[in-house]
Amino acid sequence: TPTGPEAGGGDPLGSLLPALRTSPGRPALRFGERALTYGQLADTAGALAARIGGAPLVALWATPTLETAVGTVAALLAGVPVVPLNPKTGERELAHILADSAPALVLAAAGDELPAALRAVERIDINATATATAPTGPLPVPAGPEPEPAAPAMIVYTSGTTGPPKGAVLPRRAIAASLDAVADAWEWTGDDVLVHGLPLFHVHGLIIGVLGPLRRGGALRHLGRFSVDGVARELADGGTMLFGVPTMYHRLAESLDVDPALVKALAGARLLVSGSAALPLPDHTRITTATGRRVVERYGMTETLMNTSVRVDDPRPRPGSVGVPLPGVELRLVDEAGAEVAAYDGETIGEIQVRGTNLFSGYLNRPEATAAAFDGDWFRTGDMAVRDADGAVRIVGRKATDLIKSGGYKIGAGEIENALLDHPGVREAAVTGEPDPDLGERVVAWIVPADADPGARPSPEELEAHVARQLSPHKRPREVRFLDALPRNDMGKIMKRALGAPAAGS
Ligand code: ATP
Ligand code: MG
Repeated sequence: TPTGPEAGGGDPLGSLLPALRTSPGRPALRFGERALTYGQLADTAGALAARIGGAPLVALWATPTLETAVGTVAALLAGVPVVPLNPKTGERELAHILADSAPALVLAAAGDELPAALRAVERIDINATATATAPTGPLPVPAGPEPEPAAPAMIVYTSGTTGPPKGAVLPRRAIAASLDAVADAWEWTGDDVLVHGLPLFHVHGLIIGVLGPLRRGGALRHLGRFSVDGVARELADGGTMLFGVPTMYHRLAESLDVDPALVKALAGARLLVSGSAALPLPDHTRITTATGRRVVERYGMTETLMNTSVRVDDPRPRPGSVGVPLPGVELRLVDEAGAEVAAYDGETIGEIQVRGTNLFSGYLNRPEATAAAFDGDWFRTGDMAVRDADGAVRIVGRKATDLIKSGGYKIGAGEIENALLDHPGVREAAVTGEPDPDLGERVVAWIVPADADPGARPSPEELEAHVARQLSPHKRPREVRFLDALPRNDMGKIMKRALGAPAAGS
């Protein structure tokens, strides 16, 4: 049952983002010095919606700006599916996305220079400047019928962590359902002021991070670019919630010792949420120890929006857990033979499958990939997990890259990474499996040392012994390789493909 505003009702403004109609005077969005109230947002996005209405599909040049938020809301108001584009996408990947989605128009901030591949597409500049005459009373209902709940609202490309990005078609109802589900878990209201500096072309930053606050009638303060100072400043200045990916929480954790203002700001926040990848345990512990605040982890993906979260009404800190299925989401673990794992013993590993209103309707132009991703109406996430006695989910890692089958054991890369990160000589760690004649696969550790001086870094033997001591001997790396930096994508996810791990599906 939806806990938020009802879907449907024949009102294009009202159903998905009712505050555009009901709360014209309230603050909606702030990016640095530039801000819009709900009335101003309805005005600017409504004007843009009138220009794009009728287009089959629009692309959006999704810089971390007010324009991207206005462009997204405009497309939703117009009922036109929107494809947010990562402005840092390389030429080849961009060409792939444009050929795949074939946008009729591209929305971009005035003055943004677009790459050659986009110059052939008709462009509309987004005007995000509030007019002096912005409505302050009830807003007029724009012409046009309310799109069906099943109508595609957005096409979001996956992060490309395990293979080329795939366009996930997200219906309006999935967005509404997922936003209401996290609001329930996080007790998110119109009084909340969300702070983040996430990129605006994925589910995390754009759907949960921009449409989330707008659906509740609350406010967003976007940092433009993530910075530790920005987080401290905005949380001290009325921010109540913080969203981030693990690399951001890592940077916050590293600053705690030297930045009392940051400690105070984090301690004063109502809610700190991490997602998109596993939050390393050492960062979790450092933040909780210094601020008295836990970091709540949630688990989601482009195809399913949000699946699970630690709930605000669950008093335990739960490091390493992504919590319980959100309202409306059914979750099960399935073993290699395709049978459901019934054990809630915190040990039996299975692949996560989910079903619910939160699901996408398929990959754009990829019927085979879509069919392969489903087991009946259950979506195969490709993520492996265990469940604790109370149903809470702990992610072990991705089936393709994080589950190492060595000497008859199934070993999750994540717990070895956490153990390595616990060594003072280790700054970053990634663990992969490589073919081994005796073991089947052997555990390989990729290490960014804390000290760049080769003489100061820990020896491979020391790191192997450290893991054997912390976990158990069969989990110790058989090989340690040192790097200057780990390959990461724009969400800070480790690209294990670039470390020689197999791609998904292989
Ligand atoms: P691609 O599908 O193109 O390889 P991707 O899977 O990284 O890329 P996304 O849809 O952005 O693309 O990310 C979803 C994935 O991120 C999940 O399947 C899961 O592996 C991981 N993930 C998200 N949240 C968490 C979390 N809290 N803990 C661990 N992993 C997470
Ligand atoms: Mg994926």
